Amino acid sequence: MRPGTAAAADPFAATRALFHLPPGIIYLDGNSLGPLPKAAAARVAATMTEEWGERLIRAWNDAGWMDAPERIGNRIARLIGAAPGTVTMGDTLSIKIYQALGAALDLARSAAPDRRVVLSDSGNFPTDLYVASGLVETMGQGHVVKVVEPEEVEGAIDETVAVLMLTEVDYRTGRLHDMARLTAKAHDAGALTVWDLAHSAGALPVDLAGAGADFAAGCTYKYLNGGPGAPAFIYVAPRWADRARPVLSGWLGHAAPFAFDLDYRPAAGTGRMRVGTPPVLALAALDAALDVWDGVAMDDVRAASMALTALLVDEVEARCPDLVLASPRDPARRGSQVSFRHPEGYAICQALIAHGVIGDFRAPDAIRFGIAPLYIGADEVRGAAAILERIMSERLWDDPAFRVRAAVT
Ligand SMILES: *Cc1c(COP(=O)(O)O)cnc(C)c1O
Repeated sequence: MRPGTAAAADPFAATRALFHLPPGIIYLDGNSLGPLPKAAAARVAATMTEEWGERLIRAWNDAGWMDAPERIGNRIARLIGAAPGTVTMGDTLSIKIYQALGAALDLARSAAPDRRVVLSDSGNFPTDLYVASGLVETMGQGHVVKVVEPEEVEGAIDETVAVLMLTEVDYRTGRLHDMARLTAKAHDAGALTVWDLAHSAGALPVDLAGAGADFAAGCTYKYLNGGPGAPAFIYVAPRWADRARPVLSGWLGHAAPFAFDLDYRPAAGTGRMRVGTPPVLALAALDAALDVWDGVAMDDVRAASMALTALLVDEVEARCPDLVLASPRDPARRGSQVSFRHPEGYAICQALIAHGVIGDFRAPDAIRFGIAPLYIGADEVRGAAAILERIMSERLWDDPAFRVRAAVT
């Protein structure tokens, strides 16, 4: 590409064209639900009519349905710094966190039975903490989930910790943990790590292998655009893959599912983290969504994301003095989202949506904007800031209709 051409000026023009972006809407919520990749609808339709419709049950073999979790896992592995064969797909992120933590605790218990702390932080997503509490309470081995402030995590890693369980990018503020540093610290103290990549996968470069992470999991409906309820992924480091004991010992994680043995024998490698029948239609949509990433370098995504989030901060701070930045100011210390606090955050967010700018609200007071360079550029960022300025300066948010809370915020 010659410098100065339109494509060089906007390296993501090609990827933007691959999405269905409804006219009149600036979509800054791809950190919660990525937009529809144009090819996904046809892919799902073909899977239904040509494979399910025509091939019927034969498609499990003929159309590669049974291997789809590993094939698609390999496509995601490339985006998160994982070797081929270390990632598999299925279920929801909550379930994959349960499996990762369960396997990590089991490994930790056999190595050091006196360690009983699962260390996490208050920036973690509630489901991760709920799942961890539910798991350790039902294990009945005296484990506890210890939750500290994000800034205190490093200092709290000591020889009582069995597993360090963190979400790399804080869903509310975008604050980014240093995965390599904290993983090394955990390992020095003799603990294992579980990383949640919900706001990392597709948002910034991740190097699971380089960081030495033990387990990781993430969802695919956020920055990876796999669609509502798209299946989650789980990563197991190669050194644990044949030793990790699946706490959900499902038949499709068995070494020979169709032998129908009454005794459980885990499959070799990460495939043991499969549980039951793969969600074939959802995997088809995700597979089409991952086509968008072919040829995209995560370093380019990161460079564009840092520039765009910085632009958003500058624009909003210049135009809307009442909004307080809730994200780290240094782009290197945040993921691909920016949040602002305001006591009327919910109403402001609803007013924004009514004016065509879709972000979202996270209790108690954060307005969140996800910036996905695959389909968001400087024009959208400036446009959104201009509409936000009008909503603030004319108090357009101050309307009872914007205070009515919907079930999903
Ligand atoms: C989005 C998100 C989840 C959601 O879990 P599901 O089981 O897919 O509903 C979990 N953890 C984190 C950190 C998230 O951001």
